[in-house]
Parts: sequence; C-alpha cells; structure tokens
Amino acid sequence: MELEPGIHQLTFGREPIPGIPPPNAYLVVGSKASLLIDCGFDEEADHQERMAYLQQAGGPPVTELLLTHRHQDHAGGAALLANATGVSITCHILERKAIEGDRPAGRAEVFSTFEGGESQNLGGLTVQIVHTPGHTLGSVSLFIPERNALFTADTVLGVTTSIVRPSEGDLGLYVESLEALQALNTRVIYPGHGGPITDPASRIRMLLDHRLRREEALLEALANGPGTIKALREAVYTNLPAGREKLAEEQVQSGLNKLVKEGRAALRDGNYTLA
Ligand SMILES: [Zn+2]
Repeated sequence: MELEPGIHQLTFGREPIPGIPPPNAYLVVGSKASLLIDCGFDEEADHQERMAYLQQAGGPPVTELLLTHRHQDHAGGAALLANATGVSITCHILERKAIEGDRPAGRAEVFSTFEGGESQNLGGLTVQIVHTPGHTLGSVSLFIPERNALFTADTVLGVTTSIVRPSEGDLGLYVESLEALQALNTRVIYPGHGGPITDPASRIRMLLDHRLRREEALLEALANGPGTIKALREAVYTNLPAGREKLAEEQVQSGLNKLVKEGRAALRDGNYTLA
C-alpha cells in the first residue's frame, strides 16, 4: 500500500516469531529511479506477491534492492527477486558474508556494498544510508530528508523491543544507534515489522528506557553475588514464557558483554561479577 506519495509498504508472509508481525519491505519511487528496501522471506508465494506488487506500482522500474541487514525475514527473498528481475543487491559491508553465506551455491550474489553515509538521489527523493549497528553489526537505517522520514528495519520496531544477539550484534552499539536516530528528530518511522510509528521521539525514548531498566536489573542481580548466565537470566527475567529461555539468555549475554566492555562487570571462573 502507498503510505505517502512515492513510499509504499509491502508486507509478506508469516510471523518470524509468534507475536511479531510479518516483515515489511518498502518501495521508494522517485522520478528517475525506484529503490526496494528489503524483500521478505525466501518463499515462492511471497515472491509472486512481491512481483505482482512491483509490476502494478508504476514509476521507474526497480533496479536495486537494498538489504537493511542479514536476517532471512528481510533478505531471504533477494535471490528469487534478483533471478526474476535482474535487480542488483546491495548491503552494508559487514552483512555481506552472512547474506551470501546463508544461500545455497549459485543463487543471489551481493553486487555492491556500502559503509554508511552514502546517499542516492532517486529524483525528488534522496535516500541517505545511516549505519545503525547493534541488532546486527551491519544493520542500516535509511533517511529521506525531503520527507523527514526514516526506515529503521529491526533497529526500531513499533510492536516490540529488538533482539540483540551476542553472536551477531552489540548492545553498546545498539544504544548508541538509538541515540543517533533520536537526534535525527524525524516525523515518522517506517519499521521492519508493524505499521508506521508517528511519534518517533517517544518510541525511541521508550526503547532506551527499556534498555536502561534491563541494565539496572542486571547490575542489581550482580550486586547480589557472582552468577552464571542462567542464574542471572532467572534473576532478571521473571515470568518468562516457556521456550524463551535461550533468547533471554542471549539478551543477558549481550548485556554482560556491554558491562564488561565498559569495565563495570567481569568474568571470573565462569561467573560474572561486578568489576
Ligand atoms: Zn532482524
């Protein structure tokens, strides 16, 4: 659907995790070029819907697919789209290996990479790439100054907080990225899941407060004595739904990594303690 002139939201497929809406892709149509931001899952039904939408959207044909980050619900369909349309795939340099590595041999290939700070003039609409590491190290957000509009993918979600896995993200960088996006003071955020966020300042403030509260809870648990990841998870995440233990422990690990990096916690003999 067209959200505002030249900016379309395309939502495809299933919920990636129960309770999280299906992923959004966005089509930005300028007078000279059109850009597709993300493309949803690697599913044939989603691919057919994507193709049908692009064919009726009007404007210059899409020649580039910009992937905000490596996850399958955003980048999975890239190969199908590239094979069908010849669109070239671009992503942050830190995501390239994960995006290409996730695919069977002989499928989509990343055509070019960026580092953040680049911009593209589509004709009437400029897309500026903002490196916002944290959810993954090469996650990016996209800013359209003519509209004061921001696409945040999984860095800012309207419906839930973002996952920061220690294996592919960094909580300290994530908090810095939220602060950088806060400073942009945009009119609207178009997130990677869920509908437009029309009060970006208060949404980002809430996400920063949430991280601060989790960090305080973690510091409080550490103040009660040294603990393993599991013990700290049990102290910090009470009332955790069944089956979410691993995910919660990853968040605890990310929180501990941040505190260790800042010199506020330390790992000794398998237990984390206050530094
Ligand atoms: Zn993601």
